[in-house]
Amino acid sequence: MARLFHEVPSAPSLFQNCLVEPEEARSILRPQRDERLGLGFTLSPYRGCAHGCRYCYVREYPNALHSQEEWGGWIAPKLNAPELLWSQRHRLHNATVFLSTATDPYQPIEREHRLTRACLKILLELATPRVVVHTRSALVLQDLDLLREFGNRLSVGFSIPTDDDTVRQVVEPKAPPIPTRWAAVERLARGGIDVGLAVTPLMPMDNIQAFARRAASSGASSAWVGRLRLLERDPFLGVLKDHGWERILEADYAEEVRQAVQREIPQGLRPQRRPPTPPRPALPRVQNQQPCLF
Ligand code: SF4
Repeated sequence: MARLFHEVPSAPSLFQNCLVEPEEARSILRPQRDERLGLGFTLSPYRGCAHGCRYCYVREYPNALHSQEEWGGWIAPKLNAPELLWSQRHRLHNATVFLSTATDPYQPIEREHRLTRACLKILLELATPRVVVHTRSALVLQDLDLLREFGNRLSVGFSIPTDDDTVRQVVEPKAPPIPTRWAAVERLARGGIDVGLAVTPLMPMDNIQAFARRAASSGASSAWVGRLRLLERDPFLGVLKDHGWERILEADYAEEVRQAVQREIPQGLRPQRRPPTPPRPALPRVQNQQPCLF
């Protein structure tokens, strides 16, 4: 089948020290139910994630286990993502579409592949009633004009789980720095995009009150605070212990951050997506979760 959009390299290569392994995918949409937005589909133009968050459990998904590279060291662009989406457009009638929950749609390689952009163009053409883009990357700004074309049918969720970039360097070592994320939130909001601040999964804060004030002044219209949910025998618990950060697991800590944010964005604080849950099953059995949204 001829490509709907521009040709991209199909051979393995390196991009910013990340192994790029392009593939022809068999699926791109996964049915999903969100407590706030109802039934919809997640859309993942990539498999794997170059951001390599150390708490991320996508690495244990069956379809992430094939690579010999460490998590964050490989990415598989789904070269046929636009064609797949187009061929399955009949499934999207009146559905919300989330990009993405098991990867970040603005991978560094998106700068070249533009698969997320191609999929967004299709969603725009289909007049999809609700599109939610969730990211940690300022690369989303390269599509600002396209995002604006959706009007109030699109919102961006931006993850900023800490105010301290030294914490970010430990927990999200390959993800964009915190200052660039704040700048991206501000630019999106100034550009007329509805931005929700995702303080998820909540990480250590240097100054909770200052963080809340920054959240309010960023232009984000809403925010939500979500606690980290550890797996049984989760190796990330060792990271928390090594740094003395176990407090982030306590409900009181999340409540303190939530209240601080609520004081600054009183109309926009969303309820926590789920009540705290008991430990999830051991790593290999985890399926169909939403690491980027927590
Ligand atoms: S939490 Fe999200 S951004 Fe981080 S590695 Fe996992 S999929 Fe990527």
